[in-house]
Amino acid sequence: ALKVAIVGLPNVGKSTLFNALTKTAAAQAANYPFCTIEPNTGDVAVPEPRLKVLAEIAGSKEIIPSRITFVDIAGLVRGASKGEGLGNQFLANIRDCDAIAFVARCFVDDDITHVEDRIDPVSDLEIIETELMLADLESLERRRVQMEKRAKAGDKESQLNLKLVDLALTQLNAGKPARTAEISKEDRKAWDMLQLLTALPALYVSNVDENSADEGNELSDLVAARAAKDGANSVVISAKIDSELAVLDEAEQLEFLETLGLAEPGLNRLIREAYSLLGLQSYFTVGPKEARAWTIHVGDTAPQAAGVIHTDFEKGFIRAETIAYDDYVALRGEAKAREAGKLRAEGKSYVVKDGDVMNFLFS
Ligand code: GDP
Repeated sequence: ALKVAIVGLPNVGKSTLFNALTKTAAAQAANYPFCTIEPNTGDVAVPEPRLKVLAEIAGSKEIIPSRITFVDIAGLVRGASKGEGLGNQFLANIRDCDAIAFVARCFVDDDITHVEDRIDPVSDLEIIETELMLADLESLERRRVQMEKRAKAGDKESQLNLKLVDLALTQLNAGKPARTAEISKEDRKAWDMLQLLTALPALYVSNVDENSADEGNELSDLVAARAAKDGANSVVISAKIDSELAVLDEAEQLEFLETLGLAEPGLNRLIREAYSLLGLQSYFTVGPKEARAWTIHVGDTAPQAAGVIHTDFEKGFIRAETIAYDDYVALRGEAKAREAGKLRAEGKSYVVKDGDVMNFLFS
């Protein structure tokens, strides 16, 4: 499953956010540093309002959303790459993830200790990015020696790797995360193999006070500006509100959101941002049993999409019957869509679009 690491300095609201995400008390929030030691992992449904619409039309018994995994990573403080705080163990946990969500404290509350004794979310993010950059620098320099030897001996793969390593080193030495480097499409795979922490797609999450949950505040504006510079995306949430919302049922949630003047829980925005950050989209399968969302990459072809359901579907792919979501809804289901000529037969090279309702034929 796709994994997103939640990182940030102590007491910025990571556990509160993680708890809200997973609706469990597994990651105990507490007002002191280093309270979460083991990485906590939680599976979260990707909010997808279109599934409900499809299920109603088709009379599906069950709705099955896509899922994304969040990992709460603790112990990241200044000096972490040198073994401070909880030391290096968090690095391996992050390396295992597909993207990083950096939580920044954009709320002011004198009762909650700040490890650096001040509220300055951009500097907080810099501390963390710096630790990750130092870790990348160290690992690249360690690997470079052998790589250079092999490259000089004529090894083609090492030559390409060396070129990419030096590109990363140039960025990092200039104080920029590796993700700001421009990598050609052909080099992408080798680049990903370097497994750099600062090359992972990044989302800066501004945790604001309850009154700023909608539009954010001056601090989150600074974070957003910084995100643009670091090649990251940004999103505003109030972890506190979301943790209160998380324990309510749907009707109560709507009522609470209305009182606050919010359109949706901040978490929905966060999950959607993480999803698009990873270049993901959904297609649907719809029947009387279930309406289900499947996660694919933007640009995936029909056989690749089929492969997400089962590898046999990809291997034996013959064709896909496809209805665009809007057509499916406007014509109230598959039968009428077929009559209206809106059910298309698509072959191997079809690039699946977000929201396609699909049936696969395979041998
Ligand atoms: P972590 O160390 O980053 O995991 O931070 P926690 O989630 O444990 O939060 C630290 C403290 O800050 C807890 O007492 C939370 O209740 C509190 N906190 C988290 N988010 C907010 C917020 O948006 N506003 C306020 N006032 N307090 C918050």
